[in-house]
Amino acid sequence: MLSYKAPVADIKFLIEDVFNYYDHYKKHEEFEEATPDLVDAILQECAKFCENELLPLYQSGDKEGCRFDNGKVITPKGFKEAYQQYVDGGWSALSHPLEHGGQGLPPSLGLVQSEMTGTANWSWAMYPGLSHGAMNTIDAHGNDKQKELYLTRLIQGTWTGTMCLTEPQCGTDLGQVKTKAEPNGDGTYNITGTKIFISAGEHDLTDNIIHIVLARLPDAPKGTRGISLFIVPKMKTSQDGTLGDSNNVTCGSIEDKMGIKASATAVLNFDNAVGELIGPENKGLECMFTFMNTARLGTALQGVCAAELAFQNSLIYAKERLSMRSLTGKKYPEQVADPIIVHPDVRKMLMTQKVISEGGRAMIYYTAKIVDDISMAKSDKEREAADDRLGFITPILKAFLTELGSESANHGLQIFGGHGYIKEWGMEQIVRDVRISTLYEGTTGIQALDLLGRKILLTRGKSLNDFSKEVLGFCKDKSLISSNPHKRQMNRFIWPLSKSIANWQQYSVRLALKAKSDRDVVGSASVDFLMYSGYVVMGYFWAQMAQSAYEKLAEDVENRDFYRAKIKTAEFYFERMFPRTKSLAKTMMADPKSLMQLDQELMSFV
Ligand SMILES: Cc1cc2nc3c(=O)[nH]c(=O)nc-3n(C[C@H](O)[C@H](O)[C@H](O)COP(=O)(O)OP(=O)(O)OC[C@H]3O[C@@H](n4cnc5c(N)ncnc54)[C@H](O)[C@@H]3O)c2cc1C
Repeated sequence: MLSYKAPVADIKFLIEDVFNYYDHYKKHEEFEEATPDLVDAILQECAKFCENELLPLYQSGDKEGCRFDNGKVITPKGFKEAYQQYVDGGWSALSHPLEHGGQGLPPSLGLVQSEMTGTANWSWAMYPGLSHGAMNTIDAHGNDKQKELYLTRLIQGTWTGTMCLTEPQCGTDLGQVKTKAEPNGDGTYNITGTKIFISAGEHDLTDNIIHIVLARLPDAPKGTRGISLFIVPKMKTSQDGTLGDSNNVTCGSIEDKMGIKASATAVLNFDNAVGELIGPENKGLECMFTFMNTARLGTALQGVCAAELAFQNSLIYAKERLSMRSLTGKKYPEQVADPIIVHPDVRKMLMTQKVISEGGRAMIYYTAKIVDDISMAKSDKEREAADDRLGFITPILKAFLTELGSESANHGLQIFGGHGYIKEWGMEQIVRDVRISTLYEGTTGIQALDLLGRKILLTRGKSLNDFSKEVLGFCKDKSLISSNPHKRQMNRFIWPLSKSIANWQQYSVRLALKAKSDRDVVGSASVDFLMYSGYVVMGYFWAQMAQSAYEKLAEDVENRDFYRAKIKTAEFYFERMFPRTKSLAKTMMADPKSLMQLDQELMSFV
């Protein structure tokens, strides 16, 4: 029942007009093959695969779910065949290094591809998605032998990867990890412990699964400083890739959960499974951050994917469903009633979905350029500078876009009325599926603490200042000092944006001062601060999209309606979404006292 058409025009608008990917690719000679012709061909082929092969499995996969049978997991009908098509099409290798069998194209193109696969079928996309994180981790921290054995096969797609952090007693607080790693004296380690909630932890898509596992060496320091990282294959493997017996990693069960039912979420028991250390001893969490950053950006994308799928289907429905008449008089007198799209409340929900998916996509595509810069940095200094930029924006993207993705999915269900609540239409599935995105890869609360505590207060606001400078540079450059007429029209976006940037910095300073006398200020303000940050960042990209649209309209271009629509959508964003910053500003500055003063014993009298 659900439909999906890859939004190629929107994607190309960002790649070509707003973010100028082709000039950016020219900066990195390794990416010179990423020409407009090649990228267009990739977009078309990927769209076909997603629309024709993955989307049809989205609702059937949810209905059927994964089956657990005596330690084995059987994915829903069609998943295995679609995965094989994905591998045969070379999609798993697209943005990974040439020297390990990849196609060497930029990571930013990999994200575009992930957007399409993820929108068509998020549960299916989790299997290759986790592999990308494993590839990036081995590429960044593995030795040559590990790359030759594991990375090449992950890139080919013949094996998949996982990320094994969570244990029954801890998900957020990884300092409590108990899984043990005993050295065998031959450079390998015996890994013993239980990991839970492991996505793609067991399945039937490939013969081997490469687990990236956090564990503790004997006598390691307590807490996060005593955690190391290991590669643990499901099957014993020789260096030429031949598979041997089971490596004592068994799947105890899979979770029966609210959504993403076609994605296997496994309990994995490691019982003296043989693993190899990756990266330095006791630096596992730092190395795992490579994986977690990939995964966080991937999860931010989940918000956009859900928003897009919900929007596309809501729009079709709102044009077809007839109910009552427009308040301003009949719009379709020949029909028994007008379609619900004429009603302002329905329009508000649709426009909200539209600004979320298009604005969210812009946030991701901007960040994807930073990921490219990191992957091609020529010096530590360049890499660190790009890392800082990525570190600042990642928690904003992860938490803000997943919260808004959930909002959009809920609007979709609402637009369908009672039918939205019925499985057949698919809208309730999007609500269920996207709900996990605010939880895994660090909950919204944890991302917010990371942003305000670590990325802003601990660095005395350096990253925030750098980003603010960039936005203010755009504001000055494009509008305020210009006499060009279309640039003057930009002022209705530029003024509120510049003001919110000044306030953003001011709030962070005031919170830092308040936190000196009460540490709870940080935890009490952080989620509101993060959401405020999200609306400002999205505002920056809506202003940029409007600017690009004005520039295109000043040329003799076809498809003028596309650019006019962008400007009108930016107007909606600044009038109807951006003012949310005002209420967030008020609540973030509220005293923590009203949160904390009520004794926990007095919270309920039942
Ligand atoms: C479907 C699914 C797939 C998953 N996939 C993977 C995977 O592939 N690999 C993997 O390792 N894990 C995976 N996870 C685990 C997931 O990452 C964790 O569930 C998540 O990090 C939260 O940890 P927790 O469940 O232990 O919650 P807890 O850490 O117990 O947190 C409970 C609540 O307390 C809050 N909280 C905790 N500490 C603080 C604090 N200091 N300050 C403020 N608030 C706090 C949290 O925000 C949350 O609201 C998956 C989970 C699910 C459900």
